[in-house]
Amino acid sequence: MEEKKITPKGMTLKSLKKKAVISCADKFCPIHGEKKLKVRGRVFEGEVIKKLHGRVTIQFERMIKVRKYERYEKRRTKIHARLPECMENDVNVGDLIQIGETRPISKMIHCVVIKVIRKMEEKE
Ligand SMILES: [Zn+2]
Repeated sequence: MEEKKITPKGMTLKSLKKKAVISCADKFCPIHGEKKLKVRGRVFEGEVIKKLHGRVTIQFERMIKVRKYERYEKRRTKIHARLPECMENDVNVGDLIQIGETRPISKMIHCVVIKVIRKMEEKE
């Protein structure tokens, strides 16, 4: 008798295959993609404050000098970035990620997620 292959419940062969080979059909993916999105320019690091399908918003603090008082002031910056399909499961709200500048993808998006620096659980 042939033994039945044990597969986790609810997992079809297709989804298993998808998990094994990490690739995506996202054309705005810097690693895969048809034309491979070119990352050039500045690189930013920040915390994910919002996650939507295919996009994230990051926030980080920067210091600017106030000449009048000879002190530094904290300012916050928010940047929207493209989240490629292959990284959709790795990035969550609260994570520290790195994004790179690329060509404008839409009105507000001109950056793409490069990598996850720190997951939220590892923060402590
Ligand atoms: Zn990809």
